[in-house]
Amino acid sequence: MRLHNQVALITGAGRGIGRAIAEHYAREGARVAVADLTLESAADTVAAIEQAGGTALALAMDVTDEQAVDQGVATIVEHWGRLDVALANAGIQHIDPVHKLAYADWSKVMNVHLDGAFLVTRAALRQMYTQGGGTMLYMGSVHSVEASPLKAPYVAAKHGMLGLCRAVAKEGAEHGVRSNIICPGFVRTPLVDKQIPEQAKELGISEEEVISKVMLKNTVDGKFTTLEDVSELAVHLAAFPSAALTGQSIVVSHGWHMQ
Ligand code: NAD
Repeated sequence: MRLHNQVALITGAGRGIGRAIAEHYAREGARVAVADLTLESAADTVAAIEQAGGTALALAMDVTDEQAVDQGVATIVEHWGRLDVALANAGIQHIDPVHKLAYADWSKVMNVHLDGAFLVTRAALRQMYTQGGGTMLYMGSVHSVEASPLKAPYVAAKHGMLGLCRAVAKEGAEHGVRSNIICPGFVRTPLVDKQIPEQAKELGISEEEVISKVMLKNTVDGKFTTLEDVSELAVHLAAFPSAALTGQSIVVSHGWHMQ
């Protein structure tokens, strides 16, 4: 098992990519703190992990709430005595062209992704520095390294997370902390399913065309990235044994973006 006895925190792990990674981490032997907006959604993932023989803890943690994030990390340390891996994964999407974008919608997306990633990072680093090391991971996107229309706040926030990841790699090195960012292409989760009809309406094309001409157009094989593709990379990055791999963005997108 590649993550035997490690303690991991994953935000937004009640469903989608975060849940898939939480389950994969548990299969690899990690004790997983599953954080989401409500205790109920986190508890659902925890139940699935426990049913499969794993160890997990449900946390209600809105990543934009400073106190909830600090308290969540404190609870993990009370439970398991340490924190080895923290993955800032919670995210939302908003579809609008910039000239029609409400400031509140811009702010909400920036808040969840970028402010949330900062708060999770700060709380995690305080513990990791105390214990002498750890791994910070971020759920970026292909949109951390290139843009698409209609997604300005998401693209800006994901680029910002790449910057935060790199800054943490520089600062964290002397404390034994590595920091890397996972950049997936399109994965069929509720976040993506919701935006297909929204993009179809905004672009005046069918939902099938959004999939084939917008989302998968530049992949090498016309395929969605899968939950397994992303969770396998997340395990690899958590298990990597040295600081040779730090400050890196790894794109997992069926060739949509090559860097
Ligand atoms: P999802 O909508 O299925 O899941 C997102 C989870 O985050 C939900 O459980 C939600 O409750 C939680 N969440 C939202 N706001 C939160 C907050 N303020 N505090 C705590 N939790 C919150 O989405 P997903 O597709 O699984 O996305 C997960 C991450 O992966 C996001 O950061 C997203 O930007 C990123 N991502 C997704 C794709 C994709 O194609 N699905 C591609 C690249 C990157």
